[in-house]
Amino acid sequence: MNSRRIFLRRAGLSGLALSLPLSQTLAAMESQKDDKILRVAIMGLGSYGSRVAEAMVNSKRAKLVGLVSGTPSKVETWKQKYGIPDKNCYNYENFDQIKNNPDIDAVYVITPNSLHKPYSIRVAKAGKHVICEKPMALNAAEGREMVAACKTAGVHLLVGYRMHFEAKTMEVVRQQRAGEFGKTLFFQGLSGFIIGDPTQWRLNYELAGGGSMMDIGIYSINGARYMLGEEPIWVTAQEVKTDPVKFKEGVDETITFQMGFPSGAVASCLSTYALNNLDKFYLNGTKGFAEMQPSTGYGPIKAWTNKGPIEAEHVTHQTTQMDEMAAIILDGKKPMIPVDGEEGLKDLVIVDAIYEAMKTGKKIKLA
Ligand code: NAD
Repeated sequence: MNSRRIFLRRAGLSGLALSLPLSQTLAAMESQKDDKILRVAIMGLGSYGSRVAEAMVNSKRAKLVGLVSGTPSKVETWKQKYGIPDKNCYNYENFDQIKNNPDIDAVYVITPNSLHKPYSIRVAKAGKHVICEKPMALNAAEGREMVAACKTAGVHLLVGYRMHFEAKTMEVVRQQRAGEFGKTLFFQGLSGFIIGDPTQWRLNYELAGGGSMMDIGIYSINGARYMLGEEPIWVTAQEVKTDPVKFKEGVDETITFQMGFPSGAVASCLSTYALNNLDKFYLNGTKGFAEMQPSTGYGPIKAWTNKGPIEAEHVTHQTTQMDEMAAIILDGKKPMIPVDGEEGLKDLVIVDAIYEAMKTGKKIKLA
């Protein structure tokens, strides 16, 4: 077989391609869509966007092919680093044109929180699948708009819940669902870190939509739900603020909150921007317990039960996440713990209730 024929066969092209001149064959290859690869544009080339891009280099099913940014110098650096063509680069003014780009399947929105809703809806209207960072939106009303917009557009809406694909987390969840801890009646979630620069968007109510709860406390909300395997029916919450200059009106520093579940289980959680070394989940049942620390950081995650440690290889969370999200979008795979818009919305309903409970001092019923 001649070398061109071998090359074409390796490239998966044959028949018609064999009868075309090489230049036309290469053009045919260029436009050939690989249904096994999710072609992703990242919107928001900041700190977490950079982490996701790096992780995607090792992804088997997802590939970074496009950029959306308001900073031309960042676009230039990223283009070089990841080999992104000019035609796949957009800014916040012109990214609606992505609808005319057949080489991008999904846009991953990794901007400050308040931009998640408007940008996700624009992406959906451009006919592209939406992957959006947590918190999915600022409140449940916004979340519902996003879910509706993606449904109307016929695109997926997925939320960047990377822990839902993490091996040790999934093993604890599997054991809980299998009844290995007996009746699980107590969950404790501790989520926090000391936040630095007071001028950052995370401490700006307009961009963050709140404080520690929107950013880190949401891990304890989400964790309580997947560790217990049920949805809360009430919440209570209390706020503590030691630095009202750094944490302005609407920006929570520390919140303790409790959730009650239909089985009688309770969750007791802490969300804070004022203390480090808070990344812990504890689940207790009538027959055993599971503990995770760190439980939601970038890992390696450590997990153990009353029977001993849980062992699993550490894989960069965002690499696994992108592979699994590609399988959800391209193959219709159903993950063990959902990552869709409805899942994001469930957390936002609870966030709203926690803020209401905190402000009113009342127990807020959810069901
Ligand atoms: P960041 O500040 O490092 O990056 C935000 C990016 O958005 C920047 O590139 C910035 O230029 C861009 N941007 C666009 N419009 C902007 C505007 N009007 N104001 C300010 N910035 C604007 O923040 P980050 O840490 O990358 O966080 C981004 C999102 O990712 C947040 O929603 C955060 O909750 C989420 N996040 C998730 C995880 C996770 O583990 N899943 C971790 C970190 C951050």
